Formats: sequence, C-alpha cells, structure tokens
Amino acid sequence: MYWEKEVETMDRSALAGLQLGRLNESLTRARGSAFYGKRFAGGASSEGAQPAYAGTPAQPGGYAGTPAKPAGSSIELSGLEELTDLPFTTKDDLRNAFPYGFLTVDLQEVIRLHSSSGTTGNPTVVFHTPRDIDHWGNLIARCMYTTGVRKQDVFQNMMGYGLFTGGLGFHYGAEKLGVMTIPIGPGNSKRQIWFLKHLKATVIHILPSYALRLYSFFEEMQLDPKKDLHLRIAFIGAEPHSEEIRRKIEELYGIKVYNSYGLSEMCGPGVAFECECQVGLHVWEDHFYPEIIDPVSGEVLPEGERGELVLTTLTREAMPLIRYRTRDLTRFLPGECPCGRTHRRIDRITGRSDDMLIINGVNIFPIQIEKTLMAIPEIGRNYLIEINKENFMDRLSVKVEINEEVFHGTLAELEKLQIKAVAALRAELGVTPNVKLVEPSSLPVSEGKVRRVYDYRGGEQGGL
Ligand code: ADP
Ligand code: ZN
Repeated sequence: MYWEKEVETMDRSALAGLQLGRLNESLTRARGSAFYGKRFAGGASSEGAQPAYAGTPAQPGGYAGTPAKPAGSSIELSGLEELTDLPFTTKDDLRNAFPYGFLTVDLQEVIRLHSSSGTTGNPTVVFHTPRDIDHWGNLIARCMYTTGVRKQDVFQNMMGYGLFTGGLGFHYGAEKLGVMTIPIGPGNSKRQIWFLKHLKATVIHILPSYALRLYSFFEEMQLDPKKDLHLRIAFIGAEPHSEEIRRKIEELYGIKVYNSYGLSEMCGPGVAFECECQVGLHVWEDHFYPEIIDPVSGEVLPEGERGELVLTTLTREAMPLIRYRTRDLTRFLPGECPCGRTHRRIDRITGRSDDMLIINGVNIFPIQIEKTLMAIPEIGRNYLIEINKENFMDRLSVKVEINEEVFHGTLAELEKLQIKAVAALRAELGVTPNVKLVEPSSLPVSEGKVRRVYDYRGGEQGGL
C-alpha cells in the first residue's frame, strides 16, 4: 500500500524535525543563487521584506557557473514557524531573474530544463540536477503506487512530452515503478484508442478536458471503454476541474480517477496527490513545505480556511524556492486521512487567484460555473465562458454542449433545459448569465491545457 511506508506515515513531530533540517539546508543552498544571495545578504528577515532582486534580465550565460556565494550571516531557523518571517518568491521574481538568476549550481551540474506552459504570461524556466530528477521520479512512483499501480500494469501517458512537465515527469516515475510505459503524448485520438485497446492499457495519465473529448471518439468508433478496454485507473491534473468532472470521467470509462497536482516551479506533477480514499490531495511534505495565505494581505491563514497555496522546496538542488506563491487557491483539510498517511491534505484547487472574474462587482470563479453545469445530466462535456461589455455593464455568457445521450427532447424541451441552466447558474453565482446550448462536440478543444474563459471587456485578455 505504501511506496515508502516510513516517510509516508511518519509521525507529525518527526516529520516537522525532518522538514526543519531540510528547510535550513534549502535556505543555505538557495543563498548560492544570485537572487537569494542578494535577498538574504544580510541575514534572514528585515531586508527580505523588500524584493531585493532588481530584475535586470541576465545576459545569456550571465549567471552560469558564477552563482553568488552566500555572504553575511547565515540563515538558520530554529522552528518551522520562523519561515513566515521570510519574504515570498513570486512568478515575477522568476521572470525577472530569467534565465539563471535562481540557479544554485554550476551549469555543468544541470541535466534538464523544463518550462511552465505559460498559461498566464511568459514562460519561466526550471533546472534540475540528476538528484532532482531522481527525487521527482520517486515522488511520481509514490503517487502511482499509492493508488494501486503495480509493475504488471500498462501505462499510457497521454500528457504532452517536452517542456511541459506532465509527460516526462510521469514517464520517469512510471519507469522507476517498473511499469511498461507508452509515451504516446496527447492527441491523435483514434491512435490513442487503438493503443489502449490492443496493448490492454490499465492506467492512463490525461488532461481532464481531453478525457472528456476522447470519449466522443469511442462513440464514433462504436466502442465502449467500459467493455472494450482494460482500463482501471486514470490520473488527471494540470488544469482546474470540479468533483463533478471527475465523477463524469469515472462513469464514462468505468474507472477510478485520481487528482494529481503540481507545478513546474516545484518539479511538475508529484507535489500533491490523492490516495485511494479520494478525499483531498496529500502534499508530500518531506519534499515541500506548504502554507496557505490570504492572497491579499499575505498573512498565513488558520487551518481550514481557503486561500493561496505557498510552497517551499525542501530537497530541490538546482533551484530551491522559498515561500513560492503558487496563486492556486485551496485549503488544508482537517483531520487524519483513513489511509494512514500523515502528510497534510489540500482540497482540490478551485482556480488561481488571478482567474477570478468580477462580473458587475460579483466575484466568480470559472469552476463554479463548471460544477453547476456538470450537475445537470442533459448538459454535455464541454463549455465556454465569454464576458462582454454591453451598455457599460458586464455580460456573462456561457456556451454549453448538450448531452445527446440523455437529451432527446423537442425544441420546447430544449427551451426548458436552457431556462433550468440559467436558474441553476443564477442560484450559484448570484448573477444571471446568458446560456446558449450548442451541439455536442461543436466547441473548440485543444491538445494542451483547456482554455474556457474569453474576456472581451477592454479587448481580449487572458483567460484560464
Ligand atoms: P502554468 O502555470 O503555465 O500553467 P504549469 O504547467 O507548471 O504551468 O502548471 C501548473 C499549474 O497548473 C498549477 O499552478 C495549477 O494552476 C494548475 N494545476 C496543476 N494541477 C492541477 C490540478 N490537479 N487541479 C487544478 N489545477 C492544477
Ligand atoms: Zn490518504
């Protein structure tokens, strides 16, 4: 049941001891980078309150091989709670220090670079030493093992290979576990299905939006994944999705679906993962130290309150990050998990602090719209949100596909369904949207992370 029983079930005080030791090592290591070397030059706290890095992008090679050496007094925390005295690191810090400002080792020690997919701006780059890659693979093996994946499984990895961490991250982890891995990547749906069927794949890793889209190809090929495949487990992640979407994928494919969370800045997938209980995601606290803060004041929130997840790497070598603001919104779940693992659990990510929509003063997260729509059986698997200005007012419109397996009605019934969707959304959001029902498979899909929000107020702005 456990990949590394001792560490996964370690008692909380021993875990805290391990974390503190690793945190201090991380701080020392971090000071070897140009960014933290400067930020922590005079010790830990006071100076750190301001962003010390001025943000001049480095010339190519500017930092390679010449990381700033730790200067001044060393930082040694005597308790984990003292971490809150240190300033946050932000995505802008990473961008400003591009490319090598956060590197703590000589470039010759680095064996891999990954980059975030840049959903909300320029990409950032992340470096890995052999040990970083080894730890990451081990974490993924731990995640997979936790949900019951074993050597005899056949794993089809439908996440993108390349700069995106989803593909290669799981690939190395699955190999570490000893599972035959099919590195197929996303897209080319009929070939995916052919491999799934003929290689008798039992485990997949897939974007939730793609899992829903892929299902329509089964229908087209007159196959039923429940009867014609050997699938039993899917890992979904990389984009926000509701519990309703998870259940939908479980029902369509007749499998267990587990939520996988991570971000390139920490390593990629493997940061937090659901266990067999499916009640929240265990943050692997022997490698990452999590905090939840108020995204506006920056204050650490009491346990159980929803806020922004902040992560500190405890074992990363090439690029340790201290109090990194993920912008992802979640909360710690109270209590112990029945699985016996002691690592704290976070709730599923409801969105990023920067994808909140303000519609005529009302705050809305796209995931609320998804959750509401997916609870209506006649509603299909894809939707899209548009926001426009009409007579100086914000207008929220939702286009949503109907589910032709459930809906066989007349035009009048279609109208009723539309009214039902509007009423459900109004009740959840507190604003009245336009709802347009469209044909199944008619809304755009992408091979990468799905984009569902198009905000046309003041020109096209970034959405999800
Ligand atoms: P980008 O920030 O450009 O999307 P990444 O590929 O590193 O780059 O993606 C990490 C982000 O993806 C996370 O910060 C989070 O917003 C989102 N994400 C990853 N896994 C999940 C998940 N299971 N649920 C919701 N969002 C997720
Ligand atoms: Zn658990």
